[in-house]
Amino acid sequence: EQGPPERTVRTTCAYCGVGCAFDAGVGDGTVVNMVPADDGPSNQGHACMKGRFGWTYNYAPDRLRVPLLRQGNQWVEMSWPDALDRIAHEWVRLRDTYGPDALATISSSRGTNEENYLFGKFMRCVVGSNHIDNCARVCHSATVTGMMDTIGASAATNSIQDLDLAKLVLVVGANPTESHPVVGARIKQAVRRGAALIVIDPRRTELARLADLHLQLHPGTNVALLNGLGHILIQEGLIDQDYVRDRTQGFEEWVKVVESCTPETTSKVTGVPAHLIAEAARRYATSGGSMAVHGLGMTEHRWGSHGVMALVNLALATGNIGKPGTGINPLRGQNNVQGASDVGCLPTFFAGYQPFDNPELAAAHLAITGRPLPTTRGMKTPDMWDAAIAGTLKSLWIIGYDVAQTDPNLKKVHAALKSLEFLIVQDLFLSETAKLAHLVIPGASFLEKDGTFTNLERRIQRIRKAVEPPAGVLPDWQVVCEVSARMGYPMWYGHPSAIMDEIAQLAPMFAGVSYDRLEAPEGLQWPVPSKEHPGTSLMHEHSFPKGKAQFVAVDYLPPGESPTETYPLVLITGRILQHYNCGAQTRRTGIMQVVDTDVLEIHARDAAQLDLHDGEIVRLVSARGEARLPVMVSDRVQPGELFTSFHFPHTDLNVLLSSSADESSKCPEYKVSTVRIEKV
Ligand code: SF4
Repeated sequence: EQGPPERTVRTTCAYCGVGCAFDAGVGDGTVVNMVPADDGPSNQGHACMKGRFGWTYNYAPDRLRVPLLRQGNQWVEMSWPDALDRIAHEWVRLRDTYGPDALATISSSRGTNEENYLFGKFMRCVVGSNHIDNCARVCHSATVTGMMDTIGASAATNSIQDLDLAKLVLVVGANPTESHPVVGARIKQAVRRGAALIVIDPRRTELARLADLHLQLHPGTNVALLNGLGHILIQEGLIDQDYVRDRTQGFEEWVKVVESCTPETTSKVTGVPAHLIAEAARRYATSGGSMAVHGLGMTEHRWGSHGVMALVNLALATGNIGKPGTGINPLRGQNNVQGASDVGCLPTFFAGYQPFDNPELAAAHLAITGRPLPTTRGMKTPDMWDAAIAGTLKSLWIIGYDVAQTDPNLKKVHAALKSLEFLIVQDLFLSETAKLAHLVIPGASFLEKDGTFTNLERRIQRIRKAVEPPAGVLPDWQVVCEVSARMGYPMWYGHPSAIMDEIAQLAPMFAGVSYDRLEAPEGLQWPVPSKEHPGTSLMHEHSFPKGKAQFVAVDYLPPGESPTETYPLVLITGRILQHYNCGAQTRRTGIMQVVDTDVLEIHARDAAQLDLHDGEIVRLVSARGEARLPVMVSDRVQPGELFTSFHFPHTDLNVLLSSSADESSKCPEYKVSTVRIEKV
């Protein structure tokens, strides 16, 4: 029995991108509770069950405690020095034999900014390539592309607290009450105080039920619907002419594209009644302050980046960016997926989204790191799978990311991982990916180390070491430093604060960030261009990074797959409230007593046609494979569509999904897979 805490340590939730602040209660060297902080800038005393009760995985009996080396079908325990020597030895050998392109890394969107920056530094300075990616590839990489090409910055334009100011909230392809519960609750509060709510989603989510308008479109038709809204804006004279003239360019090209997107043609493609399309456009344009939030229902599509662009076009046309209570606000998924991308764990940008060919950056990088910055873009995660199967990629080092359960087209991912000469996985548990590794390195949890996370509103917040990790276990940043030193490039930092100081030196948008300033409970919202700058709660108030924002006209194009006679149903995948992504954390907590399996939501019409009943186990079959799971008749999905989560490895759900991905960002199409159901 645990007593009351002896002390508390302020930290940040390590689940979703809301970034709720918590006080970890510590007694006798153990965390005993987590209490949401009243002065938490994004949660103000609120939290969801994951943050409050989902931390006990920290003490799960199957936490990894020592490095494990594969020998045949056996795991053999290794000492830490031997394990670190082994990584360094193999990577020097492979780099010197095959060149830098034979090595790649996938960093953790759950790790700290400092760890992610260092992993990128390791790749660029020690290996000499930009072959580094993170889980943003499979969630919001389409947002990065879509927002960079239009407004020149790829993060939320406003703050969570702006939901209190919005006159209308437009939720596109997001289910915040389950995936970002504190934001979901805040949207409900906004509705209670009188804000209008429009939800664009194929599913009848909780917010959709609450909404003034629910535009229940067919999966994969976001671009068509948003262009249809644009058509109404033009036809009915709802354009903010001054804003368009003063702050944007490319308007005429956009008009040419949306001119043909009449409510009738849009309705035909999307399934949304024409009068709802017109009504939504009118309300969005005339509310006096419309705030858009979007999630993976927007990005995880064959044309996900086009969807983001189509949404930005609407905001530009109506002057809804750069003002309080408006904007384009991606709901970033993992706790630090924003930060991992911000600090350069991308194959396409250095820290601060700086292009590799920037001469000033190159000079600063050489001066500070002593090594030249590689200028060639690196491989994105799907490219890594192709390179591994082709035999050109020899080794991958993956930190805190279970690709073997959560990436799409799992048979291909598994084949790629098995093709590698040397797979290194660093994690808290023997994940599905770790099970395929040659060497497994234990990780320290967020309760066991210092650092920072950046939440979905660009807020950099501290996490603080509350308790010791298992004996001998090092935080990820120290593991990377140890290997780097063994490969001839010592990187020694006394504390993560020194790593943040280096980030601030190299990335102008972090120039004013330092740990002493981050001691304030509200942290700092980037950009923070100088030590005197207070941080930025509202972006693009006076100008865009490019000067003027760019309308990018995009035509609707169909998803990668359409229903056929063999595969007549469309499967959508997503998260549920109780569990988190691969479930590695939540499945090792008391939350398992609430939900212990993935469930397939099916409309009553389809269930009746197939003679299916609640709880019945079915076989779900796609062109890639099959999965078994129980059905639940639900009015949340439309006829012909299905929904399920991917939290349990025994479901092996992602084996069903294709490799179809967004053209430019390579964000996979998790939201449209054609399947059939077979009775078992
Ligand atoms: Fe953690 Fe997100 Fe829940 Fe807040 S809303 S407690 S950040 S999972």
